[in-house]
Amino acid sequence: MPRKATTPMMEQYYQIKDQYPDAFLFYRVGDFYELYEDDAIKGSQILELTLTHRSNKSENPIPMAGVPHMAVDSYVNTLVEKGYKVAICEQLEDPKKAKGMVKRGIIQLVTPGTKMAQGPDDSQESNYLTSVVEKAGGYGLAYSDLSTGEIFATHVKHYAEVVNELLSLRTREVVFAGNLSASDRDRLQKANITVSEPAELEGEHAEISYVQQKLTDSMEKAAVRQLVVYLLATQKRSLAHLQVAESFEIGQYLQMANTVQRNLELTQSATTGRKQGSLFWVLDKTTTAMGGRLLKQWLSRPLLSLDRIKQRQQMVQALLDDYFTRENIVDSLKGVYDLERLSGRVAFGNVNPRELLQLAKSLEATKLIIQALAESGNPDLEKYGQGIDPQSELAESITNCLVDQPPISAKEGGIIRAGVSEDLDKYREAMNGGKKWLAQMEMEERQRTGIDNLKIGYNRVFGYFIQVSKGNVAKVPQDRYTRKQTLTNAERYITPELKEHENLILEAESRSTDLEYELFSQLREAVKAHIPALQELGRQLAALDVFVAFAQDAEEKNYCRPSFSSKNEIAVKNGRHPVVEAVLPAGSYIPNDLVMDEDTSIYLITGPNMSGKSTYMRQLALIAIMAQIGSFVPADSAKLPVFDQVFTRIGAADDLYSGKSTFMVEMSEANEALQHASSRSLVLFDEIGRGTATYDGMALAGAIIKYLHDKVGAKTLFATHYHELTELDETLPHLKNIHVGATEENGQLIFLHKILPGPADQSYGIHVAKLAGLPRAVLREASSMLKRLEAEGAREINPSRQQLDLFSPVEVVEENPLKAEQEELLDEISQVNLNEKTPLEVMQLV
Ligand code: ADP
Repeated sequence: MPRKATTPMMEQYYQIKDQYPDAFLFYRVGDFYELYEDDAIKGSQILELTLTHRSNKSENPIPMAGVPHMAVDSYVNTLVEKGYKVAICEQLEDPKKAKGMVKRGIIQLVTPGTKMAQGPDDSQESNYLTSVVEKAGGYGLAYSDLSTGEIFATHVKHYAEVVNELLSLRTREVVFAGNLSASDRDRLQKANITVSEPAELEGEHAEISYVQQKLTDSMEKAAVRQLVVYLLATQKRSLAHLQVAESFEIGQYLQMANTVQRNLELTQSATTGRKQGSLFWVLDKTTTAMGGRLLKQWLSRPLLSLDRIKQRQQMVQALLDDYFTRENIVDSLKGVYDLERLSGRVAFGNVNPRELLQLAKSLEATKLIIQALAESGNPDLEKYGQGIDPQSELAESITNCLVDQPPISAKEGGIIRAGVSEDLDKYREAMNGGKKWLAQMEMEERQRTGIDNLKIGYNRVFGYFIQVSKGNVAKVPQDRYTRKQTLTNAERYITPELKEHENLILEAESRSTDLEYELFSQLREAVKAHIPALQELGRQLAALDVFVAFAQDAEEKNYCRPSFSSKNEIAVKNGRHPVVEAVLPAGSYIPNDLVMDEDTSIYLITGPNMSGKSTYMRQLALIAIMAQIGSFVPADSAKLPVFDQVFTRIGAADDLYSGKSTFMVEMSEANEALQHASSRSLVLFDEIGRGTATYDGMALAGAIIKYLHDKVGAKTLFATHYHELTELDETLPHLKNIHVGATEENGQLIFLHKILPGPADQSYGIHVAKLAGLPRAVLREASSMLKRLEAEGAREINPSRQQLDLFSPVEVVEENPLKAEQEELLDEISQVNLNEKTPLEVMQLV
């Protein structure tokens, strides 16, 4: 849009806008933030604002839209949620005192990755900003949640890992220094991840060296630096709550690609994208938002270290065994607010009196938690409690300073206790004295004038006044009362004495509120010094919250404590799928064993569709992941190896972002496993080869199994509808067949959901089709087809002898009934005795 700077204000606007071309500029004018030109046009559409024009009379009016400053947060939020950036431009001086143009400047650039949590809705969500730097030999990655100040850093060798990390983190924004391919940029955008350019900043900043102090890797340092610079440049203030960056090796945790996490529905349902229906949903018995966020983090990063897993298990066990302590802790945790985010607000300087009091209350609750741990009599719990510092002095200094129920605003007084400051007490006394004097005056004036309903009031425009109803105006003493305002029913007057006291009262009041604000600011600064300790406390309480939740899960849902084997063996007794179990009516889930000795690496699973193959496979993966985050697991007993990676190719979870064909996705996920799995990995393959022609698919599936068997040795569950593959057990010693039982009763199919040894020996495809409500004619036709094929030893004709593929019978049904009809016809014709028919009859028959 061509420039139309006609006024000094628009000139100033353009100067600022030029520095933030990719952001919406919210330009403060009085009580409004205004948007101009393209920002106004686009903004009015997105935010449903009225589009107007500036300098309407001129030839080229400037498009304009505005939002009231009181409501700005929700507008900014809407834009940022959609992936846009918003530059907030404030008036930097009081317009009344300004000479010429009011000075304005950007006070904050709000971006998707730097948005602070708004309400309780997103308290369980982490909002990540990630920074990536490309260097010779790899990539440095760092990410942070600005509201809590936590920072993590790692480095990876390959570009593909970078993109995978970004997607699995579900970061909201990435600051990328390096080459990002156009297709990946597109992929990130589709995943609602904003890609931003690195920011620049002059001078040294204390935050940078502080957060870097524990890092040794140069790539990680560079990534963290870039991250902090971006934060400082956008937030434009010191960030005292940034935590020392934690370095981690991606290989330090159980590795799962982003697609694996999605397929297994660890934190969100694959169909709805919501928490409900996910493993997180089932396990999340946490009390605090901090605990909820931590559980989510744990779910995406299960441990490899047996020591750490066992430490967590011990805590869970101790809490499971001690109902009383657990209940005490839960009760106290209810009084713990979000310390991590409160710390962030303290650092940002926007914490309010009520929130500071919440902080103090949390510290008091912490004391009770420590007490409960100390009195538990369990050495693990006692030790945990000893490690917690309740910051008692800080709690005291807050509660001693603030009144019990302060208002939200720190600027309107009424927040500081009596006795905190002598000056404040004096001002308050003056105010009180003044008010008493007013009451006294009201009484005296009533007596003197004989006006019973005379009263003294206050408003912002006229200050204190004496109000007399219309009927009594005649009694008003003319000499001393001056009329100030006329209302419909009353007159308002002032007197010199009243004004004199008003001055005293108002001055005391304004001094008092100013002083209160100052005292509050001092308190806030004092709290700032405790931020690192508060953050540490937040982490400890969050972990305790998760342990308690795990103990509660274990008790309510009959989970058991898994043990770990250094041998590569699995022994799960009566395992259950935690989510399916939770949604089915109580007691209706059929538990299943999974026993795989060291010598077995592959279970080939056959059985009808809908019988429970994929549930069984997922069940193992979820049990393994739960075990490795320290949780107990849904089984009667479980012995597991510590898996290093999990690979899946499951069902129809198409890769929404890649735009590749199903078959291509299937093959690339299979390839991931073949290339990267080790003998310590877990591989789940559901119906591999389905996306292509039958022979092709079966051949591929067979070859993949053989490769996994000979070269990889990972524990593999492989569900297939190619019954022919079950013969592989004759040649592959580490492969075993299992199937899901089903039986037939009165022509109805009954799913037993029970895993049994050996291959499935019946075909249920047609029964499943019946359940799905296919037309009777089709079912009948398919049944007779099947019989015929079986009779013919149809293996060469239809490779899926034992189970017709639900998705391909169309061709079978459409093509073969014709043949069948012809056959019937031929039969009929061959049975005709030509000697008994007239030529006309024969012709009609044909
Ligand atoms: P498949 O992979 O064989 O097509 P699924 O694993 O998708 O079948 O299971 C189909 C449905 O059967 C599930 O949605 C679930 O409701 C039910 N189901 C599966 N396993 C069990 C079980 N062990 N106990 C009870 N119901 C089960």
